[in-house]
Amino acid sequence: MSDTLKYDICDVAIIGGGPSGLAAATTLKKSGVERVVVLDRESVAGGVPRHCGHPPFGIVEYKRILSGPSYAKKIVKTAITAGVDIWLKTTVTSLGNEGRLTLISPDGPGALEANRVLIATGARETPRSARMISGQRPLGIYNTGALQSMIYLKKRVPFHRPLVVGTEIVSFSALFTCRKAGITPVALVEENKKTSVMWPIGYGTRLFGIPLLMNTSILSIQGHERVEMVKLSDKDGNEKDINCDGVLFTGQFIPESSLVRMSHLHINQITGEPIVDKYGRCSDPSYYAAGNVLFNPVKVAGKCWRAGQATAQWIVKDLMGTAKRKI
Ligand SMILES: Cc1cc2nc3c(=O)[nH]c(=O)nc-3n(C[C@H](O)[C@H](O)[C@H](O)COP(=O)(O)OP(=O)(O)OC[C@H]3O[C@@H](n4cnc5c(N)ncnc54)[C@H](O)[C@@H]3O)c2cc1C
Repeated sequence: MSDTLKYDICDVAIIGGGPSGLAAATTLKKSGVERVVVLDRESVAGGVPRHCGHPPFGIVEYKRILSGPSYAKKIVKTAITAGVDIWLKTTVTSLGNEGRLTLISPDGPGALEANRVLIATGARETPRSARMISGQRPLGIYNTGALQSMIYLKKRVPFHRPLVVGTEIVSFSALFTCRKAGITPVALVEENKKTSVMWPIGYGTRLFGIPLLMNTSILSIQGHERVEMVKLSDKDGNEKDINCDGVLFTGQFIPESSLVRMSHLHINQITGEPIVDKYGRCSDPSYYAAGNVLFNPVKVAGKCWRAGQATAQWIVKDLMGTAKRKI
């Protein structure tokens, strides 16, 4: 690894090679923008769908129902065919004035200067650390994304009897992943009196025979090396211990906006989203944002793909000097 700072320039740099970033990159190239670079910290592009080993993906984009990994491969291929340059294992570490990015890749630190930058870094589920749950810090605590990545990409099963927390759409995806990997959740808990989404959760828990505990929250997680037990409390304060070997926290998505928070760009201090105008442009007009980094609540891949395309069309007009804006 070298420690020299490598420098490059491009017309548009896109941070994030998920559905929104790749859709934007493909649209930019097809619109005649010369040098479009997508930067992604992972060793393979495609974003979250890479590890969602289930359908439905691709209905909006390809009019077909694909699994996450097939969809991810297809959007990467579409971008490469259009002439997009994808830099993998490349993490953007700072956003400077007027499109000056610093990055780190296997070649060492680098800098990329772009006429325009699109932030398409997605969203992530709230981890245990941010959920204010006390107790010990044993092994076996995951989010759905991390579990899927473990199962589908690394082919490893991290637990067999986890407690699952949350009742969003992604919680159904978590149950489905558990089912596929031979994992039997001991229960699904929801702190409110209603599930966040109705049918997939009711249907999923009945189909898979998983107890659904409503009005129930986690007080603490116990276990020396691995998770051994979770202390629950219902709305009346009645406590109950439940034996399990893992905890799977699902949902409560937050924008992946650490880069924005550390930068000169304006950010919504409550939601963590970069502040944009109706064209997706940030407070520094060299920067735009699109996809799940902006959506609250998060949206499915097809919507992020469309959002990437729409923002790219604005970037094209902006580069050509034909964008009429009202902020
Ligand atoms: C468990 C789960 C199941 C889902 N199931 C479905 C489904 O069945 N169907 C469906 O349509 N949608 C599904 N979704 C939603 C779908 O995955 C998202 O809508 C979509 O991936 C969002 O696209 P995006 O491009 O905004 O972000 P992402 O896909 O999150 O991509 C963001 C990219 O940015 C990169 N990145 C972040 N920060 C940096 C940085 N500093 N430097 C470089 N790269 C960076 C990341 O590595 C990542 O590749 C699911 C999501 C989850 C979590």
